[in-house]
Amino acid sequence: MTPPRKKKMNLKQRYALMTRGLDWETSYQKMDDVFPYDTFEGIKITDWSKWEDPFRLTMDAYWKYQGEKERKLYAVLDSFAQNNGQLGISDARYVNAIKLFLTGVTPLEYQAHRHFAHLGRHIRGAGPRVAAQMQSLDELRHAQTQIHTISHYNKYFDGFAEFPHMHDRVWYLSVPKSFFDDACTAGPFEFFTAISFAFEYVLTNLLFVPFMSGAAYNGDLATVTFGFSAQSDEARHMTLGIEVIKFMLEQHPDNLPIVQKWVDKWFWRGHKMLGLVAMMMDYMLPKRIMSWKEAWEIYFTEAGGALFEDLSRYGLRVPKYADIATEEAEHISHQNWAIFYQYTQAAGFHTWLPTDEEMAWLSEKYPNTFDKYYRPRFEMWREMEAKGERFYNNALPQLCQTCQIPMGYTEPGDPTKIGFRSTEYKGERYHFCSDGCKDIFENEPEKFAQAWLPVHQIFQGNCGGADLGDVLKWYRMDNGTDNLDYSGSPDQQQWDAWQAARKKVAG
Ligand code: FE
Ligand code: ZN
Repeated sequence: MTPPRKKKMNLKQRYALMTRGLDWETSYQKMDDVFPYDTFEGIKITDWSKWEDPFRLTMDAYWKYQGEKERKLYAVLDSFAQNNGQLGISDARYVNAIKLFLTGVTPLEYQAHRHFAHLGRHIRGAGPRVAAQMQSLDELRHAQTQIHTISHYNKYFDGFAEFPHMHDRVWYLSVPKSFFDDACTAGPFEFFTAISFAFEYVLTNLLFVPFMSGAAYNGDLATVTFGFSAQSDEARHMTLGIEVIKFMLEQHPDNLPIVQKWVDKWFWRGHKMLGLVAMMMDYMLPKRIMSWKEAWEIYFTEAGGALFEDLSRYGLRVPKYADIATEEAEHISHQNWAIFYQYTQAAGFHTWLPTDEEMAWLSEKYPNTFDKYYRPRFEMWREMEAKGERFYNNALPQLCQTCQIPMGYTEPGDPTKIGFRSTEYKGERYHFCSDGCKDIFENEPEKFAQAWLPVHQIFQGNCGGADLGDVLKWYRMDNGTDNLDYSGSPDQQQWDAWQAARKKVAG
């Protein structure tokens, strides 16, 4: 007699057994003691089993998929290095966008890895716990693949070598760093709302799509490859983001006002942080793909509009100040690039003024604002450069207590006036760039009053000394190499030498 064949389970059954089937209610210890973090925010969950994750990926399938992706990625990276792929990029100015990515974004991937690992331990429901655990592994992989990719550029260009050291110290890097620090010091549901929903679901396309198509368009195949490898994990992360929001809203009506406040907060914080990407798209890519304004229209106004329409059945509304963020999409890249131009002496990448051709592109893409408000300033700076009076701002700027960006943004409705807001807390006055940032502070003053603000720290003597040279040393930036204009930099000189050598070979 042949033994009965074991019935093969389908994917859904396997998944249930491999995740929920391994979970249990504790009996020796109280569940509240084992999972101490998932209640203090006030989010009420009545039935964790209602959690549905559409991905249903078991751990063994996960390792198989990810292993396959890694093999492909490293094959491409090897050939990029062996074929001197750095010679094929559009122009060495492009590399400055990658410097910003490695110093600003990659350490956030590592922070995400750590905090999703924390959630993979501390969420009471097995469904989201498993999803967080996988995402934690994804984020570690993202950090590693980015560092490996970019290590190739580090052999040929300045500004990369000290990226982890810089991330914790440099003034503009405290913008993305403080964003993540804020999320990681929040409770688990706020972290999910901040990172999985507001950032990965609502805003991530504004980071990855322009960055990766920008890389492709500028001949950087190494970055494209890690980008696509990460983007395929992103689909899972976005699913987690939308599932968390729907789950919270379906579980208890008391959750709505809490979730709404988080959505408002993290939309605004995300919008401010993405101003760095806006500047990269409009000013730093030698070959442009689309303007920030166009990207905002497609990925926020249209895609986000449809999303919030869908979520309105739960009572959730469009994030507060979304209209102001949309108005700012006409200005933010120009204002940010102007800030970096003025403070290029303290930045770990190079800046330059847009060429005539680039200014024509900016006029076409920003017919309402560029010629009127920004072209005259760039042209004046160009004249100053020509006279040998290149403009540097040697005063340290006031920073927004919430987003930590220098106060270079203008009033909604009046692009000729710098926006300032302030509030008092325990006898001290705090300053903000916008109503959005002021609201965030006023909702959690005890948290944001402690912010580590780079300019304040310099004034307090905590950043190596009082002079620019001292601070640069403390940042581990090489004066005259990592900072200042692209024109005249060692990066530029080397790039020009390569191009000259190629012309000679081509005859
Ligand atoms: Fe990631
Ligand atoms: Zn701000």
